[in-house]
Amino acid sequence: MKFNKQKSPQAEKEFGGTLGATCIPVFLPLTVLYLLCVCRSPAASVLQWPPVLPPTAQLWDPLAPVLILGWMALQSFFYLLPMGKVSEGMVLKDGSRLKYPINGFHALCVTAVLLTLSLWLGMPLGYLFELLLPLAVCAIGVSFLLSLYLYICSFWAPHHALAQGGNTGNPLYDFFMGRELNPRIGSFDLKYFCELRPGLIGWVVINLGMLMKEVELRDSASLAMILVNSFQLLYVADALWNEEAVLTTMDIVHDGFGFMLVFGDLAWVPFTYSLQAAFLVVHPQSLSLLGATAIVTLNGAGYYIFRKSNSQKNQFRRDPTHPSVANLETIATATGKRLLVSGWWGLVRHPNYLGDLLMALAWSLPCGFNHLLPYFYVVYFTILLIHREARDERHCRAKYGLAWDSYCRRVPYRIFPYIY
Ligand code: NDP
Repeated sequence: MKFNKQKSPQAEKEFGGTLGATCIPVFLPLTVLYLLCVCRSPAASVLQWPPVLPPTAQLWDPLAPVLILGWMALQSFFYLLPMGKVSEGMVLKDGSRLKYPINGFHALCVTAVLLTLSLWLGMPLGYLFELLLPLAVCAIGVSFLLSLYLYICSFWAPHHALAQGGNTGNPLYDFFMGRELNPRIGSFDLKYFCELRPGLIGWVVINLGMLMKEVELRDSASLAMILVNSFQLLYVADALWNEEAVLTTMDIVHDGFGFMLVFGDLAWVPFTYSLQAAFLVVHPQSLSLLGATAIVTLNGAGYYIFRKSNSQKNQFRRDPTHPSVANLETIATATGKRLLVSGWWGLVRHPNYLGDLLMALAWSLPCGFNHLLPYFYVVYFTILLIHREARDERHCRAKYGLAWDSYCRRVPYRIFPYIY
């Protein structure tokens, strides 16, 4: 295959351009390590000065690379097993459609069976608590290596396989954004695999490890820990159950596979999304039954909005004549695709983000109100989704032009009804 150095004609830079692409890969990995240190410290204060820094000995454990690489290999093996159906992705620039195995939920179930067996055989899963920092260091290392590999390999990809955003010719920016849209080794799709498997399933395994650690320390799991574990397990199981929907998301359809997604999938998600569980190991919280009921209700409401709105759009995009969406009001666009202006997508322009944010709040509340750290996720996620909404808005305006403007007039609020 030819060496491909072609640049994208439309090279508008995102994430702060070259400066952002240089600083983020330094700043975010350090943030992961810092947050892990803070959450295990007695004060658990993110604003503490001087900041809590770990002794270098705490950053490394020879078991960590074995676990990280073993975990990636195990999940790759599950991905390759002939379980579940095979689905086609969206139409690519060359008119072809890639095939994807829809077996993420199967992988979660097989992992659950293996874990149960290992726990029964006496595996000390609570030891993950001690290993969090070295595991995060290794996951960050793997993210850099994989991103470098993807960047180098992308020069051998055909032009039509390149993503629109990561081909500016600036190596730092392109390394960060990702040059190739769907890098594969044979039929193994690296982006699709990383998107929902090792990081997401890893996150709930880490959570379970924190619960086991709590049982070791205090003989039983607290209600707060059980809630955090259950809510987040529901979220991960839902994502994997609806794995096919990921094929229509911005990450798969639009973004190249570079450091931004690799690091997000393999290091950021498992190690910062599990902060609440890790926090609870060192800072136990007591929760009243009334408080727990209120939090469960909030999570349930968020989940309902999140699931219903995502399913409505996916159903509409896959089959607009389906009875569940056929009666919804829509507007036509010049591309031939229509936009929903009633139902969930008539409430706000991103009802799925609204539901996701309500759940994020419900995951933090079991950790009480004395520390900021457990609220890191909800604060970060609000910023992420506001930024993501703005990116999506730009793409949609470019795609749909005037029709998008009239949708915005019909549905003026972006995420929070009557607020934003
Ligand atoms: P969305 O599922 O929100 O999809 C946005 C796309 O939907 C648009 O580009 C457009 O694509 C289509 N669309 C927008 N408005 C309409 C409309 N009115 N009618 C029909 N189609 C419309 O994108 P995301 O990938 O951002 O989010 C997917 C889910 O993942 C969300 O629930 C989000 O909360 C969650 N998420 C979670 C993260 C986490 O870390 N936990 C991170 C990021 C997302 P087109 O018209 O081309 O179909």
